[in-house]
Amino acid sequence: MTVLEPLRDAIGEFRITSGFRTAEVNALLPQSVPNSKHISGRGLDIASDHYDAYQLVGVIKSSRIPYTELIPYADGHVHIAI
Ligand SMILES: [Zn+2]
Repeated sequence: MTVLEPLRDAIGEFRITSGFRTAEVNALLPQSVPNSKHISGRGLDIASDHYDAYQLVGVIKSSRIPYTELIPYADGHVHIAI
């Protein structure tokens, strides 16, 4: 995925909490939507030990990382899709 290196440059170390999902696995997740970008390999969930989800969104928005979806969650992870 072309955003991984730019993400690391922008926010430092981070964890990928979810990446590609099959439609079957995606359907088992309570917060997922049927047309999730995870199914097409264009969605990624990340978390950081240094930023909460809202701070991550701010850093990503102020970077030049291209995205089509950028969603913070209360549990600390951010969904980003290209
Ligand atoms: Zn996601």
